[in-house]
Amino acid sequence: VAVDAALLAGVLMRTGEQPNASDVVNYAPFTLLPSAVPRALFEQAYAVQQDFNLLVDAVSQNREFLEQTLASTIKVDDFTARLFRIYKQVLEEGLAQTVVLGINRSDYMFDCGLEGTAALRQIEINTIAASFGGLTSRTADVHRLVLKVLGKSEEASQLLPNNPAKGLALGIAKAWELYGSQRAVVMFLVEEVQRNIFDQRCVENELWNRNIRVVRKRFRDVFEQGSLDASRRLYMDGQEVAVVYYREGYVPQVYDEQNWEARLLLERSRAVKCPDIATQLAGTKKVQQELSRQGTLEKLLPGHPEAIARIRATFAGLYSLDEGEEGDRMAATAIADPDRFVLKPQREGGGNNLYGEELREVLEKIKDSPERTSYILMDKIKPQPALNYLLRAHSPLQVSECISELGIFGVYVRQGRELVLNQAAGHLLRTKAIEHADGGVAAGVAVLDTPYLV
Ligand code: ADP
Ligand code: MG
Repeated sequence: VAVDAALLAGVLMRTGEQPNASDVVNYAPFTLLPSAVPRALFEQAYAVQQDFNLLVDAVSQNREFLEQTLASTIKVDDFTARLFRIYKQVLEEGLAQTVVLGINRSDYMFDCGLEGTAALRQIEINTIAASFGGLTSRTADVHRLVLKVLGKSEEASQLLPNNPAKGLALGIAKAWELYGSQRAVVMFLVEEVQRNIFDQRCVENELWNRNIRVVRKRFRDVFEQGSLDASRRLYMDGQEVAVVYYREGYVPQVYDEQNWEARLLLERSRAVKCPDIATQLAGTKKVQQELSRQGTLEKLLPGHPEAIARIRATFAGLYSLDEGEEGDRMAATAIADPDRFVLKPQREGGGNNLYGEELREVLEKIKDSPERTSYILMDKIKPQPALNYLLRAHSPLQVSECISELGIFGVYVRQGRELVLNQAAGHLLRTKAIEHADGGVAAGVAVLDTPYLV
């Protein structure tokens, strides 16, 4: 019944065998039952989202901070270095567009303290291609039906409405409007392999409903068809583009020389970029670590003491591994007690972090080399597991011990110096079996879930 409900509701993914065809599709993995989430922490996560929007936007506009923070990283990490080069290049040329559109997702786990109380701890903030806002707009309906079938209509009525797709589209529509050309389209910059297309279609369709035209293009298409006119308006085969919404571009593997050229063309253009390259850099793990340093938030958000307090209350311990005394000490601490930490490189998309024995081995190997600085260290969050069923096509049905990660979507639009939109746009709950240390839904580890507030 649950699977049929998911298929009917459109909680869908293309298959691994035919990732670019919609002739055969299956349901996106999800939990049979909603998972309990402490109401106070859920509300705390919503309450801090506008603050995080403000912070990401402030970081993206602070060249000195980005330069200082990423200086050690770009010496050893080629990908971040290449992004940074484009960032500097477009600043030196002068930005062609004063409108900025940010769509991010701040992810949290509920850290279980000694006395059994849980605390909201940020895992990371995703400033590029944060996904599942579309599909998760439909999962609450599925869980509502499942609860009713189980005779739990009272509980079913408690599940909150949730529509990030609409919220994200609102932001994109606002940026499109400020760009100011009826003819111009919104361009979704998509991957070569598009298994998660239905998630994006949810947002696309919201835009079509507003009579905004959407096209889907890959970096390769931009390289082949993209051009700028004298005032750096972006055209794809003669069609003007108002907004570029990246659902691609956050892993090094997608960039060959042509795709780097395409990226540069987009960044130089007058189209509104979501995100622009500065905002992508603001989402790096190195920036996250520096934000947690004493006094940094105060410098970035002067005059916002309450926002700073709300933001800081969600931080887990984060540590630099830069060369020097502080880095030496933290490397030694983590080697001595690896289960306390997570070791993170400057990568997105799941499956890159190191835990336990592997963390120890890698740190042992690189502890005296500059390569160490391409990583950061983070306290490991330890949530209280709960039982649930993870429904995945072609997998046996079995009960698993699970932990959940809550994401809040944020949307903002800035025009020049003024924030004209700043909102929380909905939530995403992802749940995975405890034997997996890392990984999201796209990585095949976590599944879609719905919070049941307790
Ligand atoms: P990515 O950019 O690859 O998504 P994340 O920082 O979100 O990187 O880490 C990926 C996954 O690893 C998370 O979804 C979470 O399950 C797990 N993880 C990350 N940081 C921690 C942490 N500090 N404690 C426990 N688990 C973590
Ligand atoms: Mg993540």
